[in-house]
Amino acid sequence: MNSSNPRLAIALAGFFLIVSPPLLSEASEESEQPSTLEEAESEHQFEQTRTCTPSGIHSCDPGQEPLPVQWNRQTVDYEIHSEGSPKFHPGEELTDDLKHSVIESFDTWNEPECANFEMVYAGQNPSDRIGWDDSIPPEDNVNIVVWQDDQWPYPQYNAIALTTVTFSRSSGEILSADVELNSAEHNFTDTDDSVEIDLRNTLTHEVGHFLGLDHSPNGDATMAPTAPIGETSKRDLHNADLAGLCFIYSDDWAANVPENGGGGSEGSSSSSCSTTSQSPAPAFLLAALLIGATAIRRRSMG
Ligand SMILES: [Zn+2]
Repeated sequence: MNSSNPRLAIALAGFFLIVSPPLLSEASEESEQPSTLEEAESEHQFEQTRTCTPSGIHSCDPGQEPLPVQWNRQTVDYEIHSEGSPKFHPGEELTDDLKHSVIESFDTWNEPECANFEMVYAGQNPSDRIGWDDSIPPEDNVNIVVWQDDQWPYPQYNAIALTTVTFSRSSGEILSADVELNSAEHNFTDTDDSVEIDLRNTLTHEVGHFLGLDHSPNGDATMAPTAPIGETSKRDLHNADLAGLCFIYSDDWAANVPENGGGGSEGSSSSSCSTTSQSPAPAFLLAALLIGATAIRRRSMG
């Protein structure tokens, strides 16, 4: 899943389940428009993914400036793996219920009118390729949502889901984003009763990574890094999530990007998110994901 292109980076984010709810902080109700990303993040409690960080395991190279990571076109397609999840929803192919839950999770982020960005369901696809492959046509690097029913490919992370975002290290432009759901090790549910790992609670968080958001410091946010079993509150966006979405994909941003341009070619990075049913993984686990690509990042989400 890692690109060997040194211009591309991959950021992986893990979404971790915790048994007890996280401490919740008050949502910011501020409505004044900050002028810089850093001011907006501080005021509204969201974080946009960066190409690198000033310190830590994803630290910037000497002279490298951390750039915000986002799509550079107003419409982005995603597809759903055609096999669906026979374990979760028995059947040989994607069921309508599963499809609708995925679409609903993406549409939760599509609905706010303050953002000029739309993720469009483009059908089913038998490909389960994760990340960005330079050797195939860009249009074949589909953004896929896939259930891993048989085996979770990342045994070192007892993750519920993982989003791999590939972006250009030089511009921050996202080239590809893929969501993997760990249905091999977790019992997903998509009802309001007897909730275990709620599908939309998980997917809505992952879609936040898909569009360029990192974890929020606000424990009530959909982009908060932890979640208790049975949680469904992340199905709906918090003010912190809305502020991030609408700051990134603002009118100013839209004025400088095509409505539906082609994918970039400079490179990619990926972000992924995983969830565990146990205690949150320590931060150093993230280092294990730094394999192959020039910069791979994983974030934890709860
Ligand atoms: Zn996450």
